[in-house]
Amino acid sequence: MIRIKNYIGGELKEPISGSYIDNIEPATGEVYSLIPDSDKEDVDLAVKAAQKASISWSQTSRDERSNILINIANGIESRMDAFVHAESKDNGKPLSLARKVDIPRAISNFKFFATSILHFSSESHDMDGYALNYTLREPIGVVGCISPWNLPLYLFSWKIAPALATGNCVIAKPSEVTPMTAFMLSDVCKDAGLPDGVLNIIHGLGPKVGAAITEHVDIKAISFTGGTETGRQIARTASPMFKKISLELGGKNPNIIFSDCDFEKALNTSIHSSFANQGQICLCGSRIFLQRPIYDKFKKAFIDKTKALVVGDPMDNKTNLGAIVSKPHYEKILSYIELAKEEGGKVISGGEAYKPEGRCKGGYFIKPTIIEGLSSSCRLNQEEVFGPLVCLIPFDKEEEVVEFANSTEYGLAASIWTTDLNKAHRMGRAIKSGIVWINCWLLRDLRTPFGGMKNSGVGREGGEEALRFFTEQKNVCVKV
Ligand code: NDP
Repeated sequence: MIRIKNYIGGELKEPISGSYIDNIEPATGEVYSLIPDSDKEDVDLAVKAAQKASISWSQTSRDERSNILINIANGIESRMDAFVHAESKDNGKPLSLARKVDIPRAISNFKFFATSILHFSSESHDMDGYALNYTLREPIGVVGCISPWNLPLYLFSWKIAPALATGNCVIAKPSEVTPMTAFMLSDVCKDAGLPDGVLNIIHGLGPKVGAAITEHVDIKAISFTGGTETGRQIARTASPMFKKISLELGGKNPNIIFSDCDFEKALNTSIHSSFANQGQICLCGSRIFLQRPIYDKFKKAFIDKTKALVVGDPMDNKTNLGAIVSKPHYEKILSYIELAKEEGGKVISGGEAYKPEGRCKGGYFIKPTIIEGLSSSCRLNQEEVFGPLVCLIPFDKEEEVVEFANSTEYGLAASIWTTDLNKAHRMGRAIKSGIVWINCWLLRDLRTPFGGMKNSGVGREGGEEALRFFTEQKNVCVKV
């Protein structure tokens, strides 16, 4: 059985407590590796290692840091198959998705920040020849990065790449539910020439390791992606300590389909935006608003396509939906299907667990589920489920759907489908979310600001936003 280890000061280390937690393969329900049950003492050790490395790393040239990040990207690429298999096994996602999306994107994240740091500049403000101000952007020092289980290496690298590029040392915690690819990254970093202590990866439970990172006085910034409630706890601890915080939180995203849309494109993309990664992407559109004239036609076509999706062994190339990430999450999703029925909703496709034969008989599978007949204000349409479960909701007018779409506590992402350009721009302004996709979904340019409004987050990641977050600004004023 593989024993995952912490990566501290350039070495793979057992947790100080000597305790381990079971790591379960969600497609089989069986334990297949052990995760360090680390605690505050391991975090303390990692912070010491990071502090030791900090001065020299902060003084490396951009070129050096860029080259090392490129080496890391290449290191992942050269172990592509191993990373793809590990991500799929650990998370339950189809192997094909890990190969097409997760691991290539982790590589892109390192490449993107390796090159963008070379072009990162700061401002100067000339006071009519009387004085000159210029802004320095310096590394913060030691920063914490905490990431979730849904896109494990993808989101882990999205944080640590800009943190390292800007000259910080990092204490990083992947989700304890999906630790494997972060563990594999330790070896890649050693081979890539990353100096010891610059990146430290501590595995273990959120309330122990995550909390210890958040509370540590020498960790000056926290970049977190995860649930809104966890984000609130982090803010409660980190804000009075005046740490910089970036919070990427939950969503309840609307997918708004007007009658004048390109029907086939809206339909096909909605299948992905509803069920990709078993609906466990923070950007998935779980509320599908359909304009009344196309409601029945869309519903029928959407049900037919949903029923054609193959649920099963993530390792099988034919599989469209793999396993739900964990038993507690599987039970939570099933409980929301029951809630939908209690609230008066009608299950028009799926609505139950899927029990495969053979290798995956103990796995956590749920059929892609479509519900209709629920109002926009019911719990199912207000709370984040984060699974293969969508609701169809009819609407008549543009103003009405804007009100429905904006009615939740969240504001992460939205998709709008229309061929009317004016309406598209009006909707782009009216929807209260950090990201609005018009006639597309999940089309990502890594230079754009990424994040949510309302309870979906604080701050933005991506491009220069991330480089700014991980640096302190200093204004130097020189009197001429
Ligand atoms: P959680 O909030 O449960 O966990 C996220 C991370 O925080 C994990 O590493 C977790 O550790 C850790 N953690 C848990 N408790 C604490 C704590 N008290 N202090 C510090 N860290 C802690 O989220 P999930 O992993 O369940 O991820 C799903 C959520 O993430 C959804 O709400 C989804 O919308 C959101 N998300 C948001 C994205 C965005 O960009 N806005 C992108 C992707 C997901 P452990 O797992 O070990 O408990």
